[in-house]
Amino acid sequence: MSDTIYIALGSNMGNREKNIEAAIDRIGKVEGTRIVSMSSLYETEPVGYLDQGRFLNAAARIESTLSPLDLLKRLQEVERDLGRVRDIQWGPRTIDIDILLYGDLEMDLPELTIPHPRMEVRAFVLVPLKDVYEIKLINGKDINVLIDNCDDRNDVKLYRCEVSE
Ligand code: ADP
Ligand code: MG
Repeated sequence: MSDTIYIALGSNMGNREKNIEAAIDRIGKVEGTRIVSMSSLYETEPVGYLDQGRFLNAAARIESTLSPLDLLKRLQEVERDLGRVRDIQWGPRTIDIDILLYGDLEMDLPELTIPHPRMEVRAFVLVPLKDVYEIKLINGKDINVLIDNCDDRNDVKLYRCEVSE
């Protein structure tokens, strides 16, 4: 059985567009996993560690038969393959891939928390997610209301308009 999963992608080093495309391409080749739809690309101001370049952010709806932890492992391999080095927390990265929602599942382990704990307050996650998320409720809250309440809501600009199914 496969679950519907939403992931977030972000890049602010090198060719950001290519990094996101390459990540999607690789995720689509992970066993038991397929890309269902892909959001537009958004350019966003960095949050947390501010002395770094702007991000491109996107979200994708995928289906996978992998367990959450197996999927995380595969996504981290994709991050590593694309040259991500973990040094500064929230610092520059060629690619960041986060699991936002995994079906109706809730889990809270140090290495994997689902729903993603900070997604509700990050417009750079919610705005792309809205492109591919037909339910529009997160933890019972309307995604549009959550976006309106995000401090960074004005720092998310459409970069490449192209929602693909
Ligand atoms: P961030 O995504 O918060 O900018 P990192 O990508 O460096 O930071 O992730 C730090 C750790 O977060 C990872 O080692 C991973 O195990 C953990 N983590 C916890 N929940 C999730 C999730 N839902 N998706 C991806 N990683 C997660
Ligand atoms: Mg991450």
